[in-house]
Order: sequence, then structure tokens, then C-alpha cells
Amino acid sequence: MKYINKNFLIEKVKVLNLAKRFNTPIYCYSYKQLKNNIRDFKKNFKSFSPLICFAIKANTNVNLIREIRKLGLGADVVSIGEMMKALKAGINPKKIVFSGVGKTYSEISYAIDKKILLINAESKSEIIEIEKIAKSKKKIIDIGIRLNPNTDAKTLSQISTGKKENKFGVNEKTFLELIKYSKNSKNIKLKCLSVHIGSQIIDHKPYEKMLKVLDKFIKKANYKFEFIDLGGGMGISYNYNNKKLNYKKYNIAIKKFLKKYKSKIIFEPGRSIVGNIGFLISKIIYIKESDKKNFIILDVAMNDLIRPALYGAKHRILPAQKIGKISKKTYEFVGPICESTDRFATVKKFQKLKEKDLILICDVGAYGMSLSSNYNSRPKPIELLIKGSKINIIKKRQKLIDLI
Ligand SMILES: *Cc1c(COP(=O)(O)O)cnc(C)c1O
Repeated sequence: MKYINKNFLIEKVKVLNLAKRFNTPIYCYSYKQLKNNIRDFKKNFKSFSPLICFAIKANTNVNLIREIRKLGLGADVVSIGEMMKALKAGINPKKIVFSGVGKTYSEISYAIDKKILLINAESKSEIIEIEKIAKSKKKIIDIGIRLNPNTDAKTLSQISTGKKENKFGVNEKTFLELIKYSKNSKNIKLKCLSVHIGSQIIDHKPYEKMLKVLDKFIKKANYKFEFIDLGGGMGISYNYNNKKLNYKKYNIAIKKFLKKYKSKIIFEPGRSIVGNIGFLISKIIYIKESDKKNFIILDVAMNDLIRPALYGAKHRILPAQKIGKISKKTYEFVGPICESTDRFATVKKFQKLKEKDLILICDVGAYGMSLSSNYNSRPKPIELLIKGSKINIIKKRQKLIDLI
């Protein structure tokens, strides 16, 4: 992905041509980047060959999930819908783990029928519900329990999940009680200890801390877990000079942990697998000049990409053609929706833009399309997967008629 003769290319395809052929906005993914991300992720932890379960919620396009399955990954799902998508994409049920604080009767029942690897429970009530359903089906079900390790992930508070004030997991005391409870149960078998402390973690220290908490806890529990599910959360670099997670240090910490415990490690990465594979291509509708800045009004909006509005996330914006001189004005990229949070970035020193120019919002492969909505009755964008010079439509643009 780079400029050739001033034109931005995704693999071998000009963004300009995509916009001409499919109109805008477009969610566009690079297959090569996906493949490289998965290869690198595996390489980082190859000494203990973990089970890698892609966190489907990061990108729920079935055709993309199918490619991820072909590259060897399983799935971490958080709803019956995601479970269905994972199965539809051909993922082996024995590579599917089910997380979430509010699994309903029908979701648990479906998970049991499909014989997935693990249901990672997050409360005593849930375990009792799983047990009840398993009993009615005359089955023994493998479960995990999610520990809340009270570890600060040092990330945005909105995407932090491992502190005691967060709704996720159970505390140590409850966990110890639940170990006892499951030992006496005829229908559930406790096989996994799971954690997930948050998302977009770029400092390895919270992970080290988390592993220390696990070490102490397992010692106290004196229980042999077949699986240790460390969750996801690995941060990526959203800007040129942003830091990203130091995988070497995380790997060293896990290897040290594994010297004591011979469990199989499970990971649930979402963002680190698909974050940087995606671009949102947009056309400038109008440019509105004011005294202080120029508003660049795009044909994408917060309904297409809500991360900036939802938690102040910053995405890099690039011109599809590098042709203008640098402008002295400040640009604010906004969408057409009637909300002041419908803005993507405020930048200085951007090239001079004019109406109908194309821009790209970068690193939108994770929590982009999957968090999109139809707010303002706006149909959802088309999704494309680029493989070299081949363009695959992996989801059609939603039609207005479907909204009415
Ligand atoms: C969201 C989530 C993940 C994935 O997090 P990323 O930051 O995208 O890697 C993994 N596990 C659980 C339980 C989650 O809720």
C-alpha cells in the first residue's frame, strides 16, 4: 500500500479506479496485509504454538472470516450471531470459544449443540444456567471462567476491561468458590482460566502484571487448567509515530509462565489481525471555509466509522492522489450527520483539497464496519477485498430500499 506516480494503491489497485467503479464510500481490505499479520502473530509466539481465536466482533464479514479461517485461525465469539457467522465461514467448532457477560439460554443451548471448544463463563449465575441446560441435554460441557485480574491495561477507559470496577469476569474469591462448585458438578467440566484486560494495549507491562496475577492465583487455587486463555488486546500503531505492543517482551513473560504451568495457551486477537488491513475510501462533498478552519465535508460519517465519535480514536487520513501543494489552513474532516461528534480528524499541513477529491481513512479494518449503523437512514458501504490486482466484492452496498 503506497503511492505510485502520486496515486495511492491498495496492493495493485488504484483507489481512484475503485471509486470510479463502485462509487463511495467503500470499505476496502488488503488480503496481503491480513496474511502478513497472521503470519507475524504466529511467529511471535511460535515456541508454544497457541490456539489463535480471531475475535469476530472486530470484523464480522463472513467472507473475510472465511479467509482468516483458511489462514489457520479459530474464533472468539460474543453472541449467537457471531457463532453462526464463524460456523458459516467454516471454522471448526473445536476452535471456537464463547465469551461475554450476558449469554442467554438460547445462545448457550446453541453453543452446546454445536459442540464448541469452550464456553467462557463470567458469573456464578451463568455457570448454573450452563449446568442446567447441559443436564437437560444429558451432556458434559467444557467451560472456562473469566477472572477479573484487577489489572490496569493503561488504555482508553472506554476499552479497559480488567479492573475491578469493570463488569467483566469474577474476582478471585468467587473463582475459588466456582472451582469447588464445578468439581461437584456432573454436567460441567472446568478446563480453562480466561482473562481479557482491554483493547489497544501498547505497553507490555500490563500483560506482565496480568501474568503475575494468574501465577499467584493458580498457585492458590491449586487446580490444573488445560487451557489458559489470555484474551486479545494487542495494540496497533494508528499514526506514523505511535507506539505498538512489544511482542518479544510479552512472549518472554508467557514463556516464563509456561515453565510452571503446562497449559495450552489461547489468544483472542481482533484488532491486531485486521486493524491495519482496512481503508475507508471517501469523496469530498463540499468544502466549507470559515475564519479558523476549512471543513472538509465527506460522504462518510460516524454511522460508517464511529470510533472517533465513540472514544476519540484518531485515524490517519491520506489523499488518494498526492498532487496538491500543502495548505496553510487547518482542515477538519467531518461527516454529513447532524451531530457535532461526527468528525474524524483536525489536521494541519494537509495538501490542498477540492470538492470531489478522494481521501482514505486508514486502519479501519477493526471495529469499523462491525460497529457501523444506519443512523440517519444511511445505507452501509460496500466492502471489497483486494488480492493483488483482483477485486472481490465481499459485501454489497446496502440498498436504500432495504432501509425503507
Ligand atoms: C473484544 C475482545 C477481544 C478482542 O480484543 P482486541 O483488542 O480486538 O484484540 C478478545 N477477547 C474478548 C473477550 C473480547 O471481548
